Amino acid sequence: MATINKNYLKLPGSYLFSTIGNKVREYSLAHPEAKIIRLGIGDVTLPIAPKVIEVLHSAVDEMGAEASFKGYAPDLGYDFLRNTISERAYKTIGCDIAADEIFVSDGAKSDCGNIQEIFGLDNKVAVCDPVYPVYVDSNVMAGRSGEYDTLTGRFRDIIYMPCTAENGFMPEFPEETPDLIYLCFPNNPTGTVMDKETLQKWVDYANENNAIILYDAAYEAYISEEGIPHSIYECDGARTCAIEFRSFSKTAGFTGLRLGFTVIPKELEAGGEKLWPLWARRHGTKYNGAPYIVQKAGEAVYSDEGQKQIKEQIAYYMENARIILEGVKAAGFTAYGGVNAPYIWLKTPDDMTSWEFFDYLLEKGNVVGTPGSGFGPSGEHYFRLTAFGNRENTIEAIERIKKL
Ligand SMILES: *Cc1c(COP(=O)(O)O)cnc(C)c1O
Repeated sequence: MATINKNYLKLPGSYLFSTIGNKVREYSLAHPEAKIIRLGIGDVTLPIAPKVIEVLHSAVDEMGAEASFKGYAPDLGYDFLRNTISERAYKTIGCDIAADEIFVSDGAKSDCGNIQEIFGLDNKVAVCDPVYPVYVDSNVMAGRSGEYDTLTGRFRDIIYMPCTAENGFMPEFPEETPDLIYLCFPNNPTGTVMDKETLQKWVDYANENNAIILYDAAYEAYISEEGIPHSIYECDGARTCAIEFRSFSKTAGFTGLRLGFTVIPKELEAGGEKLWPLWARRHGTKYNGAPYIVQKAGEAVYSDEGQKQIKEQIAYYMENARIILEGVKAAGFTAYGGVNAPYIWLKTPDDMTSWEFFDYLLEKGNVVGTPGSGFGPSGEHYFRLTAFGNRENTIEAIERIKKL
């Protein structure tokens, strides 16, 4: 008899964004005249930059000519892209990451979710709470957690590191020593960043405890302030304790094209074994490679023209973020983030739960956001707004929030 992986049954049935979708659909059916504005989406809305489109077109033409046609991409990525990333994303900020330490992929979500496969099931996992749900979910599916506890909103045997206003949204070293530590900065959903001194302490902590940090830098391009690391490899000793994930999705609008990469330094070890060959083996076996045309597009992002164009897009989103942050503060809310990340993290008013505030905002303002509790139990009484909308809708949403 075929059986299933019972760990999947531990995951609560409904996914956050499907619950939101259902609620919005029901409301629209009952109120067909309502103009609903979505400030909840975690997806970009601006089209791909012109320089990238130009390169995509010519790469498509290459695929149509016998002399330049490409079949399967190299397992770990094309050298032209890995060399460019090494030079432009790392050497320029003083990080010595070699091209062959870069694993090209179809996005950071796959890598963040799959990386746990190269680690033993006996590793203790620590996550920031709240955070992007992929880290916990993928470890639950693999069997690194106990059951979900509906009372605490936590999975047993996972170490949650609460990040709330009380600690400035910075995780503290947990009581129990973890083996795998997921950090995501700039953070989704809180929009907060970790300064270099604090990140250095985490790197030292990981080295002292033989733990591995899994560092998700999907939003590094949104950092606007000085002194905030764009990469964990800016910290001393990170090469012996950290893996880093990057994505072209939020940086260059590739959510539909799909491109990202993971960095594993050659000397990085767990339990006396090097991790690079394990991930190379896994990548080569279970991964088909990002398409040639998409890897060419990724290379174009790092060209001078490409950089100029994507920086304009990021500036557009961050102007939205400024409008939202200042608007909600003027409306009397306490809010965080929005300076180094496209996310604004609101404290719900009058001690409303995240979902109560979701309903209230939908019904009274016809504005949709994301309930903070969907990102972990410490997200309760918080609410996420995103800067990925168009300017006009963002301004209108804020006007409505001011009138609540
Ligand atoms: C959006 C997001 C990702 C996913 O990136 P893709 O490259 O599109 O898979 C990864 N990490 C965080 C924190 C994100 O918000």
